[in-house]
Amino acid sequence: MSYTATNNRETMGFQAEVKQLLQLMIHSLYSNREIFLRELISNAADASDKLRFEALHNASLFENDSELNIRISYDKEARTLSIADNGIGMSRDEVINNLGTIAKSGTREFFSRLSGDQQKDANLIGQFGVGFYSGFIVAEKMVVTTRRAGEKSDQGVRWESDGGGEFAIEMVDKATRGTEIVLHLREGQDDLLSGQKIRSIIRKYSDHIVQPILMKKEEWKDGAQQMLEEDETINQAFALWARAKNEITEDEYKEFYKHVGHDYQDPLAWTHARVEGKQEYTQLLYIPSRAPFDMWERDAIHGVKLYVRRVFIMDDAEQLMPRYMRFVRGVVDSSDLPLNVSREILQESKDIEAIRSGCTKKVLGLLEDLAKNDQEKYTKFWGEFGRVLKEGIGEDFTNKDKIAGLLRLASTHTDTTDETVSLDDYIVRMKEGQDKIYYITADSFNAAKNSPHLEVFRKKGIEVLLLTDRVDEWVVSNLAEFKDKPLVSVAKGGLNLGKLEDEAEKKENENVANELKDLTGKISASLGERVKEVRVTHRLTDSPACLVADEHDMNANLARMLKSAGQKAPTSKPILEINPKHPVVLRLKIEEKRFDDWASVLFDQALLAEGGQLDDPASFVKRVNLLMLEMSSN
Ligand code: ADP
Repeated sequence: MSYTATNNRETMGFQAEVKQLLQLMIHSLYSNREIFLRELISNAADASDKLRFEALHNASLFENDSELNIRISYDKEARTLSIADNGIGMSRDEVINNLGTIAKSGTREFFSRLSGDQQKDANLIGQFGVGFYSGFIVAEKMVVTTRRAGEKSDQGVRWESDGGGEFAIEMVDKATRGTEIVLHLREGQDDLLSGQKIRSIIRKYSDHIVQPILMKKEEWKDGAQQMLEEDETINQAFALWARAKNEITEDEYKEFYKHVGHDYQDPLAWTHARVEGKQEYTQLLYIPSRAPFDMWERDAIHGVKLYVRRVFIMDDAEQLMPRYMRFVRGVVDSSDLPLNVSREILQESKDIEAIRSGCTKKVLGLLEDLAKNDQEKYTKFWGEFGRVLKEGIGEDFTNKDKIAGLLRLASTHTDTTDETVSLDDYIVRMKEGQDKIYYITADSFNAAKNSPHLEVFRKKGIEVLLLTDRVDEWVVSNLAEFKDKPLVSVAKGGLNLGKLEDEAEKKENENVANELKDLTGKISASLGERVKEVRVTHRLTDSPACLVADEHDMNANLARMLKSAGQKAPTSKPILEINPKHPVVLRLKIEEKRFDDWASVLFDQALLAEGGQLDDPASFVKRVNLLMLEMSSN
């Protein structure tokens, strides 16, 4: 193909991250170089989908050519390979934006995480997605010529780059709409200039593409390969999700995932079903094996595409999945929705609600199945997406119990950071007479694990869940019980171990509390406004004191979290609980002169032990030194 340039060539620099991405890609993906074709065909297919969708409202965009296809050709002499589509095409601005910058949120941050270690970085790139720039793995120069559907023929744009720091751009004439990408192959890539080789790559990676992928037929004649005028279709050219499950191979499912998920790695698991009944739709939903780098970005894309009777309607259809399942990728193809459905309509549509609820259940079912039958995979899933799934406990009232069953948490059972304990496991291990699920929240694993609040539980061998994700506070405030067992914080309210204590123990505790009434009153008077109450506890075995929140007050960890996030938190005063058997407490009984200092240190150390911050650390240090000196001179 030739184009007339209109002498308006401009050279521009790539965004810094693009340069980095190019370098990284060329080096780290070299051993997997064939994937460039998959990526470019995948983009061509998306461009065709977009055109078909826009043409629903404006048929003139078809320009009398509504047969969308992708053409692959090669030229042995010129050593080029070309991928052409008659899809939506790009305007000049779109070319500059799409092929000169990376328009993903969090890109800069992602690149700042690269270490320079090629092995590690190569791993990260999978999370980022490779896309168009992967052409440079095999090409020393890429030339893109494109025209947006509906624009005049002189509005073609040519983009050209050798993958260094710059690209050139100029306006050209282009009769047909769509995009053609010509790869000028690097030295040593000549094996790609073979019809047989290209066909085998297409069948391996792009068989599932819906549009026909066409190549010129070839035949052997006079001892050489001759190219004929006639086209042949290389792929199946049929929507994969609309095919029968038993006719689809694992590899086909995996390759399709890479296309819809814009991922470079295999998916972890998927579910494919045709739903009949009031709403008819097909769902093919995947769980990625790695979290995308931008999962925590507010505007990160939702990965489920909506089709209506095999016509692509939209990407990023956030209405199809709840927020806490934003990691799911795939396709929903509805038989009932109108083709002209818009985001606004989706928002209110009862049909979409039914589809969302069906898809949500399906994914939860898939996760339950993994948890039961493939622990290794489930552990991997949990490590990548557990924190997102936890959001569902507060977001999805209908499925709360199911989600709760999928939680994996750390606990005193193993005392490691591994999140492997399910609430069901916990219940199985409950002590005789135990009717509650105990947990502690803290802002670090060590603070949770070593918390004084756990002492009596450890002594009695009662398991406590150690919750240290920020989102855990949200989980427990929305999950009052699991299978009729209330979830109870060990740092809140009076300790009532119920049947886990015998009557004699209870009686003795009461007596001790009565004996120490004077002391608790005196400490309370000394601490004044800092505490709500001072009382004797038997939850401690080794520590002299701890702080607890009153039954209906916000717990201290959550209050600290809110404050550090700049939000308002109610300032409820804690209750100081003292250990009647501890030598420091016994000593306090006879202290007179320095009583206030002792009481203050007791309070401050309890606050420190639970991860709190002292209002006046210097005074605490002074008091501790003073008391230490006094002790040593006695
Ligand atoms: P991604 O496909 O993940 O968005 P790419 O780097 O592969 O990233 O492509 C960047 C953008 O360039 C695409 O999102 C699309 O808007 C545009 N683009 C790429 N190839 C084509 C094409 N063949 N036709 C139209 N637009 C394209």
